[in-house]
This record gives sequence, C-alpha cells and structure tokens, in this order.
Amino acid sequence: MATTANKEKSGFTIGVSCPGCGGELELEDNFFAIECDHCGSALRLVMPDAPPTFVAEVKATKQEARYAIDRYLKEQGKPLIHSDYQLKRMYYPYWKVDAILFRLRKGVEKRVVLSDYTENQEISYEKEKTDISLSPYTTTLTAGMKYDGLPNTLGLRSDYIKLFPLSEEKMEDDFDLLPIYKPWEEIRKSLHTHIGAISSFDSNLFGVNKTEIYSPRAMLLYFPFYLFDFYDTEGFNRFVIDGVTGRVLNHITTLASNTQESYDNPNITLGEISIISHQCHNCGEDLPSVESLVYICRNCQVITDLEPGVEIDEIEEVVHQTEQNNILVPFWAFKISGVQESTLKSIFGGIYRSDRVIIPAFRVKNYNALFKLCKRMSAAFPQFKLDKISKMDSTYKPVNLPLNEALALTEIFITKDRYKKNINQKKAPLNLKFDEITLLYAPFHLESYFYVDSVLQAVTFEKSLI
Ligand SMILES: [Zn+2]
Ligand SMILES: [Zn+2]
Repeated sequence: MATTANKEKSGFTIGVSCPGCGGELELEDNFFAIECDHCGSALRLVMPDAPPTFVAEVKATKQEARYAIDRYLKEQGKPLIHSDYQLKRMYYPYWKVDAILFRLRKGVEKRVVLSDYTENQEISYEKEKTDISLSPYTTTLTAGMKYDGLPNTLGLRSDYIKLFPLSEEKMEDDFDLLPIYKPWEEIRKSLHTHIGAISSFDSNLFGVNKTEIYSPRAMLLYFPFYLFDFYDTEGFNRFVIDGVTGRVLNHITTLASNTQESYDNPNITLGEISIISHQCHNCGEDLPSVESLVYICRNCQVITDLEPGVEIDEIEEVVHQTEQNNILVPFWAFKISGVQESTLKSIFGGIYRSDRVIIPAFRVKNYNALFKLCKRMSAAFPQFKLDKISKMDSTYKPVNLPLNEALALTEIFITKDRYKKNINQKKAPLNLKFDEITLLYAPFHLESYFYVDSVLQAVTFEKSLI
C-alpha cells in the first residue's frame, strides 16, 4: 500500500534474506551494502551485467480478487460472477527504465505589457528564450507479448512496491511466468518514441525543442495478475485484478482478434542478483557498511570496486595539510578527446588551462548545482597537486555516482553549454572519448552554509549537496 512515508522515498524497496542468519532485510533502491539487523554481518548485493530481474509478491488471494469483482459488478447493478469462470494467474514482465531527461526549449516568447506613457495601451514585444532542464525520468513498458486487458504500464506502482530478486522461493507455484518478447535493446532504441508525448506537449510554447534521454538503466519486473474470463447474458467479460492490492484494474468485454503478435521469442538472459558477504576480495576483511562504490581495505590496502565493468586500480587525493574539520569529497576526473579544445575553453572560461573535466562522484539531485561544482572544480584542477592514497577513513565521503553516469552527465554538460552559447549543434553524436580516468578526493571544510575547499579556498558548494 502507498503510504505518505513510502511515497516520499526515492524508490521501491527490495527484500532479501541474509545468507548468514536467514533474517529478512529490506533495502532501498540505489543500495550497495547493508549490515544485517539480525546478526550484524556486512552484506552487499551483486548486480548482474544484464538488467536485474525482480518479482513483486502476490499479496491478494483468489478469494479477495473475486470479492473485488463482485463489488464492481454490484455497483454496476449486474449479477455477481458465477462459478463458471476461467481463471488465469500470471506474472507479466515489464521493463522499468530510469534515465535522465534533457529538455531544451528555444524560441520566441511574446510578452505584452501596459505602456508607461499612454494609459491602457498595450505594447507587445518578442524575446528569445532558451529553457534547458534536466529531470529524472522513470517509466515502465511491457516486455511480454500483447495480452488483452493487461495495463501497458505499471505507473506509480513501480515506485513504491516491495520487490524481490526473482527466485522460485518468492514465486507462487500456480502462477505462470510469461515469457519476455521485447529485449532491452529494442526498448532502448524505442525510448525516444515513448518520450514523444512529453515533447509535443509543450511544443506550442516555443519554436525549437529537443528532448533527449541520457543514461537509461533498466530492470525487469514481473508483476502478478489474476484474469477472470466468463460469459454473462450480455456476452464475454474479462476482469484483470492487481495481484498485490487485489483491486480491479480493468474490465473488458471484447478480445482483439489477433492477440498474439508474431514475435520471435528472443533468447533473453535474466540478470540474477546475488547477496554476498561485504568483504575485501583479496583478504576477506569486512568492508565498512557505508554505501559506496569504492573501498580501500584497511587490512591489505587493496581496492574493491563495485561498479560492473569498471576497474579502479589507484585512488588519488589533493595534497593538503591535515585539518581536523576536513571532509574528503570524491570526484571523477577525465581527459576528453573528440571535442575541440575551444569548446572546453568556452565552457570553463578563459583561465581554463587543464584538459580534465572534474565531476562529483556523489549523487546530487540538483543538476544545476552539480554542473556549477563541475565547472569550478575543473577550473581549479590545474592548481591541485595529487598523490596516491592507500587508506581511507570515515572522513572520506562515499562514492555513489557510478563512473558511467558521470560520463553521461559530462556529455550532457557539454551539449547543454553548446546550446547555451549558440554553437550550432549538428545532429551527429558528439563521439566524446574519455581517457585517463581518475578517482580523486579533495579536502573541504564547512563555513556556515557552504563547503569551501581547504587548499585554494576557491571552490565552494552548498552544505546540503553532500
Ligand atoms: Zn544476518
Ligand atoms: Zn583486504
């Protein structure tokens, strides 16, 4: 059920059991590590390379589903469902996609004002306006074959339900697992047509508009449904019941003649999530249960990197004097090729002497603040000296913005700035190349509402950002 508290949470929750003691644990979306409430083991989820697969638990019984239909029929003044029905119980697959939505609106805005000189005289003038926004974007799309009556999207449901990694244990025996017909690659390619509705919605306001999706991440979600088919005096009825809440989702009285679209059943690998001890892969020492993507083992100094496909073999920090009130803030740094130096120069201003882009390695909800910090750090970077580190303590803030998202954000950053500066954008992709990737920490300290960097005293960001 959606409670107010649940709605305020950033995402769905995931239920797993502790491999140590079997206790039930609940994780929020965007998790990496957790300490078991029951036995204190340090644990972490290992996400697969393929999109992870989850299942929502059946909560409503067949009886409850029938009652819901009876109530519905009663309200319509119809006779109750008779016992001669055909029941289908199924888990139907959906893709849940999370991405960053980039929107640019450029055009002429007509403004009307009252004249200062002549009473009641309206003067209108036109003003060019560029409006750029970035926002989180979430959607669910069907992954299975077309099935009459099932919803095309899970809507908000996918944001507050509790999900479990797909396993026999969490599935009801008498429910069928429907096959997946649309592979993620196909969905990914079609995402632009799905966001078409968003673009056309505000195209009236402005001339040019561009909507792009960046950094899409997918997971597969099996949702349970009850389908009751029966005939009454007026003909065919199908009721679709939500297997979690027991509510009537749909009532249809006809079936499309061609229910089964002719798809080839593609060979799809389901991403299996596993839960393991949160330990150093080298020596077995427990790692801190603070959620981070990167750790240095306090015992053997070997780096553990949890982002799939990414390997960090060295972590650096800005050389600084040890101060008690310092915190160490993580950043990704990389060289960019494939974009003209002049473009970077125009982004970072005249003093830009570095070929590195520095982007926070922690999640920032406010993209404007993130880009501001990126700009300041990139401009300051040539003045920092770096040194390799071999240990981290609790003053080192966790890394929770994966490298791959940081790269996508950088691309947006450059694109966005080009638009702003009216540099003509060709349709061709940017083809940026990111080289010499480094993870680095820089010291900051708090001065009332801001963190100020402790070396140059030049880079600041709002306290609430981290
Ligand atoms: Zn446990
Ligand atoms: Zn170790």
